[in-house]
This record gives sequence, structure tokens and C-alpha cells, in this order.
Amino acid sequence: MKTSVKSSVKTYEMLINGKFVKARNGGVRDILDPASGELLAVVPEAGRADVKLAVEAARKAFDEGPWRKTTAQDRGKLLFKIGDLIRANAKALAELEVRNMGKPLAEAEYDVADAANCFEFYGGLATKIHGETMSVPANSMSFVVREPIGVCGQIIPWNYPLLMSAWKIAPALASGCTVVLKPSELTPLTALFLARLMHEAGAPAGVVNVVSGPGAGAGEELAESPLVDKLAFTGGTATGRKIALAAVGNLKKLTLELGGKNPNIVFADADFDSAVDGALFAAFANQGEVCSAGSRLLVEKSIKKRFVAAMLAKIPRIKLGHGLGAGVKMGPLVSAAHRDKVEAMIKAGVHEGAKLVCGGGRPKGAEFAKGFFLEPTIFDEVKPTMRIAREEIFGPVLSVLEFKDEAEAIRLANDTEYGLAAGVWTLNVNKGIRVLKELRAGITWLNTYHPTFNEMPWGGYKQSGNGRELGLYGIQAYLETKQININLDEAPLGWY
Ligand code: NDP
Repeated sequence: MKTSVKSSVKTYEMLINGKFVKARNGGVRDILDPASGELLAVVPEAGRADVKLAVEAARKAFDEGPWRKTTAQDRGKLLFKIGDLIRANAKALAELEVRNMGKPLAEAEYDVADAANCFEFYGGLATKIHGETMSVPANSMSFVVREPIGVCGQIIPWNYPLLMSAWKIAPALASGCTVVLKPSELTPLTALFLARLMHEAGAPAGVVNVVSGPGAGAGEELAESPLVDKLAFTGGTATGRKIALAAVGNLKKLTLELGGKNPNIVFADADFDSAVDGALFAAFANQGEVCSAGSRLLVEKSIKKRFVAAMLAKIPRIKLGHGLGAGVKMGPLVSAAHRDKVEAMIKAGVHEGAKLVCGGGRPKGAEFAKGFFLEPTIFDEVKPTMRIAREEIFGPVLSVLEFKDEAEAIRLANDTEYGLAAGVWTLNVNKGIRVLKELRAGITWLNTYHPTFNEMPWGGYKQSGNGRELGLYGIQAYLETKQININLDEAPLGWY
């Protein structure tokens, strides 16, 4: 493959207490370009000691520093400045995201713009935080005021490193909290770049800290630390359970954004071509490494054969390659180990008797030899009991199931421990809304799949999580609620 990609190995530092530092014990981690397996960068490998320092800095900045007493306008201005700096560095950020994570450039560009939007949205919202006034009983006046929760530990996965950083940091800073963010050990580069931008924008020392390190040790310390008031986690459901247990020590406030096995339902009366496009995009955007991926495609029996054939006809348009290559629509998976896991699930699908109708293997050719590529894969005739219908694969693997009527579609869609996202395709709007109302999922789409907005809440039902991010809901997750009661009588109570 020929791309204009040239990577040079760069050494990064992490942001703790307003300074860019190495790990205390000198530990480092090599970061690879998943499309070539080449060394891309070297980052500090934070351990528990580094996280402790970051948490102490965030604690001090919250308890003694000016941040939570800074005016909402000033907090908003900082967020707008960070948004501006993201836009000014958009090209470099997008290319770095591609090199580190593997996604196609067009998707990374979208993520970068969305990250800037997120800082701007919460920059505006900083000045809209307000309480309530009540007057019960008549001789008293009562207020409800909203205050920042405190020190926030934030742990994010590898599939949207910059965007997830923005989703976490922006509402926390807008509300007056201080932050320690830990990106995935596989993809820390854009979060560390963002740390530079936040520092340049004028974030005071300790208010925002970014530590690069593994879940084991660094992540665990953040989840367990008694100095952390709130933990916001995005990642797998199994890790979410561990985090919840670790956070119980000091009963941290907890938001969890976890996995999904999301149904995408196509009725026979859908706009056929739009639904075919939508089904492929739902499954294969970002290599299928998306928590909300439409990885379970439920198609009405009468059109299923034609629908699968139409999808197969479009598969050759999904050009694989380095995400910076021209026209590339699908990059490599994030790591060799992750590709192994996805391949094991493909084997499980074949073993259980699903019909592999495309993909299933690694693409051939010298340009793919060193990267962690996998072909877009579709299984037809999948049964609801099969592992590929039940477990999150988090890769480019689509499972197609059929249903005979609306009731069966709803039953199959809800037959999962997850409840993150769901899509419905039909030109009968009554039916579409009726079905959406029955689906046990937090993010739903009619005649589209994937678009999401900073203004709208993001999060899941059932084992897909706890709480909501983004929108007005997202800032609530960083605020405490305090009642203040004022006695208007001047006479003593006279109780005793
Ligand atoms: P993981 O759950 O493996 O990891 C997520 C983060 O948690 C990483 O930073 C990881 O660090 C860290 N971590 C791992 N173990 C621990 C621990 N014991 N204590 C503290 N931190 C820990 O998820 P992936 O990174 O593999 O991401 C994929 C998952 O994320 C999928 O299940 C996907 O559905 C989910 N996800 C959910 C989203 C949502 O909004 N609901 C959005 C995006 C992804 P390290 O990487 O260094 O091990």
C-alpha cells in the first residue's frame, strides 16, 4: 500500500499538577501504529504512584485552589479556548488519532470537530447551571444550589480516544470539578496532545491531569482512591463491574458507559437502499469498534435474502488500508491481541453453524502484512442463542437474524443483557415509533444509524451502563445538590 504516511517516533510526557512529567519510576510504553505495526511513540507508563500524585494535585486544586470558586463565565471561557485550540490543531490531532487508533481519516476528522463542539457546548452550559428557590413553610425560604462533586477520576477506552476525553473532561470542568483522566494504554496520544492544549489554554495546575498507564495499577488506583469523589468510566461491561466494586470503598458517585450488542431492525417496508447503506455503516464504521455498533441486524423474512445480497454487493466498496490512505473506509483493528479476540469469535460463529457469507479472514497483500487488519465479515442465518448473536465482538463482524413480524422483531431486539443503542428502518412512521418505544435501549434511531449530538444524552439501559453523558444530563452527573434553609422568624424556636 502506498500512502503519504511517514511516522517519526516521538516521546510524550503526561500532565500532573500543571507540569509535563515522566513516570516516577521511569517506566515507558511503546505505542504502535496498528496499520503497520511500527513504533509510533513512547509514552510514560504511569503506575499507582503517579496516579496518587495526580489525584493529590486534583484534590488540592479542588479543596484549596480557585477552580470551584472561579466564575462560571471564566470556566466557560477556558472551555471555549480549549475548543479553539482543538480546531487550530485539527489536522495534527486527526492524523495522530489515525496513526494511533487506526480509524480512517474522515472519521477522525469528524471526531476532532465533535470534540471541539463538546468543549464549546459545555463552555456555554457553564453559565447556565442554576438552582431553585422554594418557600416551605411560610416562615422559611429554601434554596437548592448545585455544586461541583469534587475530584473526578475518568477512565476511557481506545476506540474514540480524543472524543471520549472531551466527553469526560468538558462537563467536569464546566461544573467546577477537577479531573484525573486515564486514557487506554493502547491509545494515549491524542489525550496527551489535548493535555498540552488544555495547559496552553490556561487550565490551572492540578485542575486537569492526564496520566498514561495501564488499567492494572494506574486505572485501579484511580478507581480505588479515597480522594476521588466521582468516577466516570467508559469501557467493557466486565471492566465496569470491577470498577464498580473498586469504587465502593468510599462510595464514589459513578457513571458507567459500557458495551452493547445493538439490534438494527429492518422491516420489509423500509426504503431498501437507505437501509442497506445504514446496515453496513452501523456495523462497519470505525472497524465495528463502536459500543453502539449495529452488530445484530434483524431483517424481516420476506426481504432478507435480497437484503443480504445487496449488502454483499456493496462490500467491495469498503476499501481497507492505512487510515491516512486515499479512499480508505476501514482501517486495522487496534491491536494484534484484539484481532485475535475478534477472530476467535468468528471461529465460534462458524463452529455454531452460522453461514459465513463474506470476510472472516485477514486481507491478502503486502500492504496488510504487518498491520492488524481483518476483512469486513457477515454471518447469515444466525440463531439468537449463538455467541455471535449475544456477545459483544467489537470488530467488523455483522450477525444477520430474521424475524417474521413486529412482535418477534421487538422480542429478539430486547433479548440481550445489553441496552445501549438500537435502530429501526421502516417508512411506516407509526410502526417505527411504536417499535422504538418498546426497545429497551438508551440511544435509538429511526431510518438512520449512528448520528449522535453533544446536546443529547448518551448512555445505556440494563448492563450497558449507569447514568448519562452529554447534553444537560451530562453536566448533572458532575453536580451535587444542596438545600439551604433560611429561617425568616426572629423569635427563638421555643422547643425547650
Ligand atoms: P476496557 O474495559 O478493557 O478498558 C477501558 C478502560 O479501562 C481502559 O482505559 C483500560 O485501561 C481501563 N481498565 C481496564 N481494567 C481496569 C481496571 N481493573 N481498573 C481500572 N481501569 C481499568 O475496554 P476497551 O478499552 O477494550 O474498550 C472497549 C469497550 O468499551 C467495549 O466493551 C465498548 O463497548 C466499550 N465502550 C463503551 C462506550 C459507551 O459509550 N457505552 C463507548 C466506547 C466504548 P487499559 O486500556 O490501559 O487496559
